[in-house]
This record gives sequence, structure tokens and C-alpha cells, in this order.
Amino acid sequence: MIHPSAEVSPQARIGPDTNVWNEAQVREGAVLGANCNIGKGVYIDRDVVVGDNVKIQNHASLYRGVVIEDGVFIGPHVSFTNDRRPRSITPQGRLLSDDDWQPEPTLVRHGASIGAGSVILPGVTIGRWAMVAAGALVTHDVPDHGLVKGSPASLTGYVCRCGRPLQAGEGASPDQWRCSACEATFNLPALRSK
Ligand SMILES: [Zn+2]
Repeated sequence: MIHPSAEVSPQARIGPDTNVWNEAQVREGAVLGANCNIGKGVYIDRDVVVGDNVKIQNHASLYRGVVIEDGVFIGPHVSFTNDRRPRSITPQGRLLSDDDWQPEPTLVRHGASIGAGSVILPGVTIGRWAMVAAGALVTHDVPDHGLVKGSPASLTGYVCRCGRPLQAGEGASPDQWRCSACEATFNLPALRSK
């Protein structure tokens, strides 16, 4: 379903059973997978790639260079960025064009979640099943299952595939992390103490 008020380029590809809601814009060359939900007012820039089963909440902005793998959640008003040194003009005052720079790629891996209002700096990889807390400013890569918070965001723990926090192992296996809700276990590096 594409809402009549959405603007989807004829050069974009939209997978089956993907919904694009009111006033969203999907630019030329963008590729969206199957079963996605693209919320009201979302902006998907040209050549952005989105996998299957992805939820993008209202007014999130995904700019050129962003790749989203399957099963990712992107909260409302999340901003991706693709230019580490943004300028509108040259030192001489000439307006810069699209040809004057190359976007830095950003990757969000399978099953990760990005909380509302977060800002993701360019060149970052957010690992599989990672969780970015609401309002975080992500300046560095996030490891698989990593929970990051704050501005700039720092790693404070790990989360399970079910979204609950993981507890660190004890004794012989400090790298063994366990979910008390679903009892899944994961081998993840011990957190550095502060
Ligand atoms: Zn779990």
C-alpha cells in the first residue's frame, strides 16, 4: 500500500506488502524490501537500501549512503547523516553541488533498533541486534547486541534478541552473557570497566 499523499519515485523499488504512509518520500534508486512499514513523513534519499521486515517510524530521515538490513527498527525522528564536514559553500563562497562530495556509508545490521530522536553520524556500523537508546548521538561503531546511550553514545551493556538486557557470566566464562527472560546465551566480549 502506498498512501496517495506519499511521493514514491518511479525509479524506486518497493517490495511486496510494504506500506508507505502519509507524506513519506522515497527517492529515485532507493530499494525497499518486503513487509516494511514506512511511517508518515519519512524521507528516504536516493540509492538508500532497506531490507525486509523493517519498521521506520514517523519523520525519520535516511540519507544517501545508508544501508539497512532485514528486521531493523528505526524510531520516530531518527536522523542519519552522511557528511562529516558539512558546508553549503566553498571558501570562495560558491555553492557546493552534489558532485563536490561523496557520502560516507552507514550500515545498520540485522535486527538492530534505533531509539526515537537519535542522530547517527556517517561511516558508522550498528551491529546485529544492537540497541540505540532514544536521543543518543552515535559517533562510533556499535558492536553486535550492544546497548549504547547518551551523547556521544557509549556502550553500557548488551541486549538479547528479545530486547531485554543480558547479564554477564561469572567464573570460568566471563564472556558468556545470558538473558533471564528467554534464557538465550551469547558469547560477547566483557565490558571495559570505567
Ligand atoms: Zn531474551
